[in-house]
Amino acid sequence: MVSQPHGAADDRADQARDDAPADPVARGSAPGDGGSAEVAPDDTSGGAARDGGEHSHGHDHGPASELVALSDQLQGIIDAVHPLAPIQLSLLDASGCALATDVIAHSDIPPFDNSAMDGYAVVAGAADGWLPVAGEVAAGTDATMPVEPGTAVRIMTGAPVPAGANAIVPVEQVEEDEARIRVLDQPAPGAHIRSAGESVHAGETVLVAGTVLDAASIGMLAALGHSYVSVYPQPRVVVVSTGEELADPGTERRPGAIYDANSYVLTVLARETGAWTVRRMIGSDDRERLREAIEELLPHADVLVTTGGVSAGRYDLVKVVLGELGDVRFSKVGMRPGMPQAFGFVEADPGRFIPCFGLPGNPVSAYVSFEVFVRPTIRRMQGRRDLSRPRISATLEAPLDSILDKVEFTRVTLRRRDGEWQARPTGDQGSGILRSLVEADGLAEVPADRDRLDVGERVVVHLLRSA
Ligand code: AMP
Ligand code: MG
Repeated sequence: MVSQPHGAADDRADQARDDAPADPVARGSAPGDGGSAEVAPDDTSGGAARDGGEHSHGHDHGPASELVALSDQLQGIIDAVHPLAPIQLSLLDASGCALATDVIAHSDIPPFDNSAMDGYAVVAGAADGWLPVAGEVAAGTDATMPVEPGTAVRIMTGAPVPAGANAIVPVEQVEEDEARIRVLDQPAPGAHIRSAGESVHAGETVLVAGTVLDAASIGMLAALGHSYVSVYPQPRVVVVSTGEELADPGTERRPGAIYDANSYVLTVLARETGAWTVRRMIGSDDRERLREAIEELLPHADVLVTTGGVSAGRYDLVKVVLGELGDVRFSKVGMRPGMPQAFGFVEADPGRFIPCFGLPGNPVSAYVSFEVFVRPTIRRMQGRRDLSRPRISATLEAPLDSILDKVEFTRVTLRRRDGEWQARPTGDQGSGILRSLVEADGLAEVPADRDRLDVGERVVVHLLRSA
C-alpha cells in the first residue's frame, strides 16, 4: 500500500461546502463544454475537499427524463473540491507537483561575472602584441588576481572574471608561447563574459504558483539554491472495484465470473495524473462486506473512486453503502457512456471528508467517467489550473450518432490530412468494449443538443495519449 504522510488532512473538514451539483437540467451544453474544465487563475486558495453537511439526498433517483447536464455535474464537483494544503518537499520529491507559491529570485543567476569560454581574460583595447600571462583562474576558484592592461590571465569556462578584465579571448583565437600569448582577433568589451544576473535578476519572479514542476523548473530552483519547495501534495486515490462476478487476474475464473479490469484501468489513470494510488477489488455485492472493505481503506484516501454497483440493478449496493458513509448524490448524468454517477463526500477519518465517486461498472463507462469527473478533481486537489486533457478540433471522416440530451463520447482514431486532424470511430462503441478504447487516440464529443454529426463536420476530440 502506498501512502504519503502529509499535513493536509485536518485542514479539510471545517469549511462549508458549496452547494451540491445543480438541479437537473436536460439541455444546453455547448460544443466542447462537456468533459473539459478549467479554473480561474486566482482560484487556488483554501484547504481541500470539504464536508457536505446540510444536504441529505443520499438515494434519490429522478425519473429517467431528469438528466443532470454534464457541465452542471462537473461544475458542481469542481466548486466543491479544493487544493490540498501545501507542504514542503525536497526538489526531487516535488517533481510533478504544482508550486503553491510564486518563487522570487533572492539572488542573481549567474551570481558573478564569469567566462563563457576557456581562454584568456584581458582588457579590451589594451591587448595588442605579446601579453604576459600573469596567472590562471579555474572554475570554482575565487579570482584574486587583477588583470592589468597589457597582460592576460588564463581562465576556464565558468571561472569568475578577474577584476580589471573586461573581455575573454577564446583559446582558439590566441597564439600561445610559454608564458605569453598574442591575441589574433581583438575582442570587444564584454566579449564571452556571462554577466551576473543575465539569466535571472534578484527580485524577479521566476516561477508562478500553479506551475507543475518539471526538469527545467526544478533546475531553476536548484540554481537558486533551494533544496525544499512549497507544493501541493499528490492526493492519495483509493480505487475500489466491486461486484460479485469479479475475479482477480492471475487467479482461476469460476463460471459466471469475469476478470476485474476496472481497478486497473482507474488506478493507471490515477497514477498517470501523478496521484498516489491504492487498488482494491471487492469481489462481492454484499452490503456489509462492501462497507467494511471501504471503511478500512478510507483512512488512506484523499479521494475514493469506486466502480460498479451504482446503476439500477437489484445488487447495486455500492450506492447504498456510499450513502451511509457520507453525503453522496446519485445522478443520471446526460452523457454516454457513463450515465449513472455518484458523487459526494464521505468521512475518511473523524472530521475529515473526502470527495467520493461511484463510477459505473462497464469498463469504458468507468474510463470516460474518470476523464470527465475524476481527473479534474485530482488536478484541482493538486493545485493545477489545467484540469482536463488537451483537446483538438477534428473533421469527421464518418458520421457519429448520438442521443439528444446526452454528451456522447466516441472513441476515435486521429490522422493528419491536408493540414487538418481527421477523426474516425474505432469500431463497436458498446460501453463494455475495451477493445475500441485500446485502439483510440481520443474521445470525440458530440454535444448534448445534437443527435448526429455528419461527415465533414468539426468535432472536439479529447486526446488520450498525452498527459
Ligand atoms: P454494474 O455497474 O455493477 O451494474 O456493472 C455493469 C457491467 O460492468 C456489468 O456487466 C459488470 O459485470 C461489468 N463490470 C463491473 N465491474 C467491472 C470490473 N471491475 N471489470 C470489468 N467489468 C466490470
Ligand atoms: Mg454490479
